[in-house]
Amino acid sequence: MARAHVLLLNPALGPLDYRADREHAVAPGSIVLAPLGPRQLVGVVWEEESLPSDNQVGDNRLRPLLSVYDVPPIAAPLRRLIEWTADYYLAPPAAVLRMALPSSSALDGTRSITEYRLTGVAPDRMTPQREQALDRIGARQGLIRELATIAEVSEAVIRGLVKSGAIEAVTVSIDSPWPAPDPDHAAPDLSDEQQLATGMLVDAVDAKAFHPFLLDGVTGSGKTEVYFEAIAAALRQDRQSLVLLPEIALTEPFLKRFEARFGERPVAWHSELRQSQRRRAWRSISSGDAKVVVGARSALFLPYRNLGLIVVDEAHETSFKQEDGVLYHARDVAVMRAKLEDIPVVLASATPAIETRQQAAIGRYTELKLTARHGVAEMPEIIAIDLLADPPPRGRWIAPTLIRALAETLARGEQSLMFLNRRGFAPLTLCRHCGHRFQCPNCTSWMVEHRLVARLQCHHCGHTMAPPRACPECKTEDSLVACGPGVERIADEVTALFPDARMAIATSDTLSTPARAAEFVERMEAGAIDVVVGTQLVTKGYHFPNLTLVGVIDADLGLSGGDLRAAERSFQQIAQVAGRAGRGEKPGHVYVQTHEPTAPVIQALLSGDAASFYAAETEARRMAHAPPFGRYAAIIVSSEHADEAAETARLIGRSAPEVDGMHVFGPAPAPLAMLRGRHRQRLLVHARRTLDVQEVIRGWLGALTWPRGVRVAVDVDPYNFL
Ligand code: ADP
Ligand code: ZN
Repeated sequence: MARAHVLLLNPALGPLDYRADREHAVAPGSIVLAPLGPRQLVGVVWEEESLPSDNQVGDNRLRPLLSVYDVPPIAAPLRRLIEWTADYYLAPPAAVLRMALPSSSALDGTRSITEYRLTGVAPDRMTPQREQALDRIGARQGLIRELATIAEVSEAVIRGLVKSGAIEAVTVSIDSPWPAPDPDHAAPDLSDEQQLATGMLVDAVDAKAFHPFLLDGVTGSGKTEVYFEAIAAALRQDRQSLVLLPEIALTEPFLKRFEARFGERPVAWHSELRQSQRRRAWRSISSGDAKVVVGARSALFLPYRNLGLIVVDEAHETSFKQEDGVLYHARDVAVMRAKLEDIPVVLASATPAIETRQQAAIGRYTELKLTARHGVAEMPEIIAIDLLADPPPRGRWIAPTLIRALAETLARGEQSLMFLNRRGFAPLTLCRHCGHRFQCPNCTSWMVEHRLVARLQCHHCGHTMAPPRACPECKTEDSLVACGPGVERIADEVTALFPDARMAIATSDTLSTPARAAEFVERMEAGAIDVVVGTQLVTKGYHFPNLTLVGVIDADLGLSGGDLRAAERSFQQIAQVAGRAGRGEKPGHVYVQTHEPTAPVIQALLSGDAASFYAAETEARRMAHAPPFGRYAAIIVSSEHADEAAETARLIGRSAPEVDGMHVFGPAPAPLAMLRGRHRQRLLVHARRTLDVQEVIRGWLGALTWPRGVRVAVDVDPYNFL
């Protein structure tokens, strides 16, 4: 009899031992089904020595495994990555494993699945619910459950529509192969600079060894074209490539661009996939059939059969940091995966993070520079608007200089982008009469007015309410006023100034799915939009040759938060949004509205002297022993009861070990003192770079207990200081 040591998909459990009758059932990496009490759970066979069990069960008491799935085993490099991630981010190994096996239904051998779609036939009887379902489903297809979710109706409504003939069943094969992208389909002519970078990347792919690169090229310099050649090299070796993108909304334009270069689309992996698509993608990734996978950070832990290259595009983006569940940074884990797989990894960015620049500076990463835009495109001219000297009229947000530039751009038939990183109409609503401010009942945050949908919304927990007619405090009617601008308000202002301009708002509210983002891109490309008003969503990756004017409505906004990366982030964001201007043949202009035209961030943007700004920021980090010269870990204690949270936080603070090179700040109420109805306290651990702070925290928290309702989360290398 053989023992199988199995890590089950249950974060509360460590590995458990089972009895295996067949030899291959105990090979590490095998994906198995195992009994747990009355339930059956998926798990992966693991090496005993790398994840020891807490208590050994005698051979005679072992329960047998139920089955071994007929899919390739989780390979050793991925098993090591799962261990490393769990260890580094202080997460249960099973919680990390779950990211490699997100679709347990993909494991069974079913080759086809039944989905449903509209037939176009009207149902025998129409009800408001049925009408809503038909309307929302449109051209989409999916399981009954998925369609019910899309339509926001019950499954019974969908089944009723099936019965009446308005919806029909279709059989979808989930094992149909993906056509392979062709590395020679439409290879570009590269500039000398691009060729140099490409050569290095292709050599590294051919060398089949770990090699981290920073691909640092100005916006529009052809970074994508360059790493596409590295993907072509991996394709020629018949190895897989993974491209991580920061934002799901960006995938559709990326897929199109990829198709133009390689003749076929890559396999997309993101949270919007239907179950059948997810199963098909997972199976082909694990079989090696999916040659190029593009996805959000969740694509990082998938079981690639023979990975040859990882690319992290827009690698500076903080959305690569996962802020719930396992708190990992996909950029950093990507580098670790490349190391364990022994392959090259490319971090591409026009505004690399200080952490990444530092790795290049000390020679750990090879830096590849692209200094010029492709073709005739020039870098845009950046001009500051001093809001004190050149203010907008009262109650307006666009300064006269920017209005003139907008008018001229419209007159030339070119496109403009007004950037403000604030969703909704106004960030704060208050009562003119008594001063009452609308706060979220669950969070320490204001309710944000979204006028387009006539709701007040909390941007932290999603709580919404209808704006009341009367103030809840003083009962005065029609007394509510909107304070400050959001994108919707800027859009109103543009419409008031230029009633004939065709306008679009681009935020995560309006471009919430890849399909909607694709539609936006199409309208931009077709010239059906004159002015875009958008949030940080439009700063990323888009390429619109006819967009020649960018207006930054409030350049000071990002600096107000004041965390350690505020200045860097501000610089990145404005440089990225500026980078959308003038990417084609026509020159671009960028106007930056600010109250502090002499602030270092603004000066660096105007002069184009990023290097000295970064040098100063890096030096400040070094002096403060801040990352990457020191480390932080945040300990967040939360509970529905304020006193419980505070007490546990104090206990943790009191029990902090004395460690050389480590300092604990707090506890104190977190800036977001309440989130989703939970009171939050926070401790910040600051340590020298070489200290194994995870080991210290494990020992420290491991010795403590707290009430059941209290949650203690450790955020290693935090990006969010709320
Ligand atoms: P980045 O990713 O650095 O912002 P892109 O790769 O998006 O830049 O390139 C900007 C534009 O220039 C794209 O439309 C791209 O197709 C084009 N481009 C860049 N390099 C070349 C090239 N060598 N040949 C043809 N087009 C190119
Ligand atoms: Zn809230």
